[in-house]
Amino acid sequence: MRIRTFYSPLRGIGQEDVWHDNSECPIGNSIALTDRWSGKGSTGKRCQYCLLLDSRPVVAPLGCSPDPHRPRA
Ligand SMILES: [Zn+2]
Repeated sequence: MRIRTFYSPLRGIGQEDVWHDNSECPIGNSIALTDRWSGKGSTGKRCQYCLLLDSRPVVAPLGCSPDPHRPRA
């Protein structure tokens, strides 16, 4: 899910300075809560994983049963 935008000079397991805003991002999650700084950092570049997680379709294709694990809105 979407979380407050943060970045870290320590990068976690990431290779470059990017900002994160998704709670499922493996790179964002590798950064300790105490090392997370609010904002988008000096590069202003968004994490590719967060982008991917954000663009994931939320509506199931026709013919598929609803995901029982997905919480109801
Ligand atoms: Zn990320």
